[in-house]
Amino acid sequence: MSETKRHHHFIGGEHVAPSSGEYFPSINPATRGVLYEAARGGAEDIDRAVRAARAAFEDPAWRDLSQTKRGHLLRRLGDLIGENAEELARMESSDNGKLLREMRGQLAGLPEYYYYYAGLADKIQGSTIPTSDRRVLNYTTREPLGVVGAITPWNSPLTLTTSKLAPALSVGNTVVIKPSEYTSATVLRLAELVLEAGFPPGAVNVVTGFGAEAGQALADHRDIAKISFTGSTATGARIAANTASRFIGSTLELGGKSPNIVFEDANVANAAMGVVAGIFAAAGQTCIAGSRVFAHRSVYDELLERVTERARTIKIGDPLDEATELGPLAFEDQRDKVAGYVDLGRSEGAKVLTGGNATDAGLGGFFYEPTVLVDVDNDMRVVREEIFGPVAAIMPFETEEEVLRLANDTEYGLAAGVWTSNLSRAHRVADRLEAGTIWINTYRAMSPMSPRQGFKNSGVGIEHGTETIKEYTRLKSVWVNTSEDPVADPFVLRS
Ligand code: NDP
Repeated sequence: MSETKRHHHFIGGEHVAPSSGEYFPSINPATRGVLYEAARGGAEDIDRAVRAARAAFEDPAWRDLSQTKRGHLLRRLGDLIGENAEELARMESSDNGKLLREMRGQLAGLPEYYYYYAGLADKIQGSTIPTSDRRVLNYTTREPLGVVGAITPWNSPLTLTTSKLAPALSVGNTVVIKPSEYTSATVLRLAELVLEAGFPPGAVNVVTGFGAEAGQALADHRDIAKISFTGSTATGARIAANTASRFIGSTLELGGKSPNIVFEDANVANAAMGVVAGIFAAAGQTCIAGSRVFAHRSVYDELLERVTERARTIKIGDPLDEATELGPLAFEDQRDKVAGYVDLGRSEGAKVLTGGNATDAGLGGFFYEPTVLVDVDNDMRVVREEIFGPVAAIMPFETEEEVLRLANDTEYGLAAGVWTSNLSRAHRVADRLEAGTIWINTYRAMSPMSPRQGFKNSGVGIEHGTETIKEYTRLKSVWVNTSEDPVADPFVLRS
């Protein structure tokens, strides 16, 4: 019998056993098989990692490295991820159950994030400010913050870690990552690649473990300069309150309940595929899932037929099989949560048009059928709360005003889809929707170049694009008196 592999933390460039001596199993959600054991981190491990990151931050080998050379390191890291993409995609697919072809796609795009921020590394600059006194030179610089704590979820571990890591490193921070307890392996491997790329030991550290232990300890650590978090709104709110009380910043990418709106003038065949992509891809386990579908009354029946037909033929099975279209939910509680919501919907009066059952797909895992709910309205909990599974609620509407009101009637504001062939309407509706990302005649598109942020309870702060650089730097204003004149009056404010 082969022994289960054990992963330690990765601290200061080394694999480090947890101070508790404890490990916990990571389960393959497709088969319930144990994949490996991860170290159970706590406050002591976090402290060790933060100290290693702080030492790396202050080490001239990193602090004084030119911006151009930092860019070279990021480029090398992107190359290494590309060279190891297949291994990483397989690891991630086994760990969280997402389709191998989805993870291959994500991995194929991942180096681009490092190349993008490599390119930006030597273009971060301040400005010269004209004050009212010509004898004064006033300029600004952008400095790294220090040690950034990154806390990430299980649904796209490497992509969501990269959204934080690449910009944080590009401007000279060092990082401690606490990955989700369900998906530690690829983030640990990424930290090894960071070292291989030539970053100094301690520039990137990973402490694995549970949210209430390692996650909380990282968020609470006094030497952390910032927390960058992706996860649920409830945890995000706790982190926001905690960081605010210590006057440090946080970037929070949280949950969603995004509307996907199909107007009467849309190409309904394309819109139906957009609805399927929005809610059944990744088994609905994406923050940007288009879980609330609004279809104009005149195309409602056609859209319903197309979406339901496709949902019924979705191939459920082994995520490593190229032909599979829907893998398992990431862990048992998540599958039970999805099942619980569909049962709740039934009790609230919703009709299940297709799906509505848990299955093990003959593999023993935590699968749930692609599910379409109708006879639902905006007041039901299945329409208001994030399910994070393959469950679409489809509702008809009559007018543009009505659908805008319904779409915006949510605590979330992460993303929205609009399907229309009317150019004026497309822009008008995009303007009125309360969400940080609007997709018109497409869904689930993402690029390192395009900034995104959640409105309302979907988050605070920007990820991707050039804007995110501000999240990982602080601005310093330097005043230089260039005159040799004697100080005229020390009791007067100078400009
Ligand atoms: P959680 O908030 O439960 O967990 C996210 C991370 O936070 C995990 O690493 C978790 O550890 C950790 N954590 C949990 N409790 C604490 C705590 N008290 N202090 C510090 N860290 C803690 O979210 P999920 O893992 O369930 O992820 C799914 C959620 O993420 C969904 O709501 C989804 O919408 C959101 N999400 C948002 C995205 C965005 O970009 N806006 C993208 C992807 C997901 P552990 O795993 O051990 O619990």
